[in-house]
Amino acid sequence: MRQYEKTGILSQKDLQIPSEKQLQKGVAILECVQEIPCNPCVESCPVHAISMKDINAPPVNDFEKCIGCTKCVSVCPGLAIFVVKVKDRTAWVTLPYEFVPVPKVGDMVKAVDRTGAVRSNALVKKVIKQGKTMVITIEIDSDLAMDIRNIRV
Ligand code: SF4
Ligand code: SF4
Repeated sequence: MRQYEKTGILSQKDLQIPSEKQLQKGVAILECVQEIPCNPCVESCPVHAISMKDINAPPVNDFEKCIGCTKCVSVCPGLAIFVVKVKDRTAWVTLPYEFVPVPKVGDMVKAVDRTGAVRSNALVKKVIKQGKTMVITIEIDSDLAMDIRNIRV
């Protein structure tokens, strides 16, 4: 049994990890490992970067094709897709957000990891409404790029 099956918390070793070069352009990290019949992420991608062996298989992102457009972030019912971009010491994480209050551009919020722990402050850079889901981009230290997956306003 994998660790996340006991804890419900994914770690980096459960995920497809992009190269440094791929992170520099910005790519979608698909934090979806369960075999469930679901594929809006595949349908949403304008460059057909996301694929699945079959409808029950976990999705796979072709990081070379992915253009980091964030379209897949809001369509995932599991809120399991994050776009991460890194440049030098700064990272931008785009995440789905369905709580209130919704932060505004320029706000400082708390950056939270997969366990729910607050790890740092984050600056809100972009807030977009896509359907019922807010898609929020935050700026954090690059060391935390693959750990921060939520915010607390
Ligand atoms: S970020 Fe855009 S290009 Fe990349 S997988 Fe998602 S929808 Fe496709
Ligand atoms: S839309 Fe979300 S839950 Fe559904 S397969 Fe894609 S990543 Fe997984």
